[in-house]
Amino acid sequence: MKKISLLSTIIFLIYPVIIQPAQQKPAEQRNAGKSALEIYYVDVEGGAATLIVTPAGESILVDAGWPGFEGRDAKRIEQAMKAAGITTIDHMVMTHYHTDHYGGIPELARRVKIKKFYDHGPVSSLDEDKDFARKYAAYQEVTSGKSITLKPGSKIELKRAPGSPEVYLQCLAARTEVISGKPARSATNSVCSSHTPKPDDTSDNARSVVLLLRFGTFDFLDSGDLTWNIEEKLVCPYNLVGEIDLFQVAHHGANTSNNPVLLQSIKPTVAIMNNGERKGGQHETFQSLSELPSLKALWQVHRSSNTEKNAPPEYIANLAEKDDSAQMIRVSVDPGKRSFTVTNDRTGKQESYLLR
Ligand SMILES: [Zn+2]
Repeated sequence: MKKISLLSTIIFLIYPVIIQPAQQKPAEQRNAGKSALEIYYVDVEGGAATLIVTPAGESILVDAGWPGFEGRDAKRIEQAMKAAGITTIDHMVMTHYHTDHYGGIPELARRVKIKKFYDHGPVSSLDEDKDFARKYAAYQEVTSGKSITLKPGSKIELKRAPGSPEVYLQCLAARTEVISGKPARSATNSVCSSHTPKPDDTSDNARSVVLLLRFGTFDFLDSGDLTWNIEEKLVCPYNLVGEIDLFQVAHHGANTSNNPVLLQSIKPTVAIMNNGERKGGQHETFQSLSELPSLKALWQVHRSSNTEKNAPPEYIANLAEKDDSAQMIRVSVDPGKRSFTVTNDRTGKQESYLLR
């Protein structure tokens, strides 16, 4: 009896949050009204490529997947651009100098126009990549050495569509440094006492650019492959991120990232993991996410073979690595409706969540 009344209480509480989705329209039609901001998770097989298109039609690509495979990732990004109704990348931000993030930029630049490039600044060598000099030179060639260095606090201002809220990207961390200053409500973060440090990460992951996208009251955090101890700096002693609506699970879901201290501070409503079948998607990360009271849903670009705790199949865009259909997860943020909607292209499954 107790169980039944608890269940009905939970349903009562959850029902207003999970709004029944409207019928799915093709992307072209969804973008025609230009009131929504769209985010596309391109399947780059365990790399990262997150395409954002604003209501004014301005585009930001955060990371560009892998090189090789006959231009596979660049072609998939181009497909996403087509779905979004754009032909140019206005802002190409790469979070760090790892192949699965910036390796795909030269191929993409051969296929589509890219107006501006952003990174965390020049690097002369990288211990973890023996082929770094060649890849870095290929990247320098497409940027003509004119990429813009993002520092903690740097802002990328974006055009505001008529009747649409303000939209911008802010860099919260880069090269292991975090944005300075106390937030207005500057109480120290009580979650911090539970932080257990891990050995310092000397790879470029720790130097990842961390981006907060703000559109009206919608907040989206993309921290690239930022690792454990720098994640702690972002929220301790003060929470410099705030609470967010959408979290791109860090580092493809690796357990060297996704420090519970960060997750419990930013309180995401929805998380999207851009894991591969065998890359990232580690068990501890699923566990930490499942313990978040704020989290309404976890969506995955791939099923992970590294855990038994995958999301239900309808929340997973690609169930098998060898399937080349490269399905996307899409997010549409409609400030007019005070909600955002996540769609799995493979199944058509759609769920909407209220903005905080
Ligand atoms: Zn990565």
